Amino acid sequence: MALDLQHVAAELAARGLRLTRQRRAVLEALADTPSSLSPLQLYEAARERCPELGLTTVYRTLEVLDEIGALRRVHGPDHCEGLMPVSAAHAHTVVCSACGRVAEFTACDVRRISAAAARETGYRITDHFLQLTGLCDRCAARRSAKRRP
Ligand SMILES: [Zn+2]
Ligand SMILES: [Zn+2]
Repeated sequence: MALDLQHVAAELAARGLRLTRQRRAVLEALADTPSSLSPLQLYEAARERCPELGLTTVYRTLEVLDEIGALRRVHGPDHCEGLMPVSAAHAHTVVCSACGRVAEFTACDVRRISAAAARETGYRITDHFLQLTGLCDRCAARRSAKRRP
């Protein structure tokens, strides 16, 4: 998914951090993943590109990405919170319950839900986080192939 390296490099620089080989490995691993990763999984994936990478660098880089709104939080099948780079400014995720692949969709009409939530709780609703679960095309095809005699 999209991760604007130049933008990230500028934000790092603004915090006195350089786009080092280690940080670049973290960003590339994150940009390359088809499913969401926990910080530890991201660490493992990025270490394949840069074996001397430290876990602190992973967390610090994720912190910066989070601050600039470049991260999306996803509830994955095997971890309660995984991370993906953001591609669209406002989008939601659908996660495959079999393989964990994540896709984004932009259609959302949650006005009725928001209004109902506001009525029930008295809160003024300002934002929402929406995630759907399903079977991706590959896993769905695999399942229906298995069912055939
Ligand atoms: Zn799948
Ligand atoms: Zn939405």
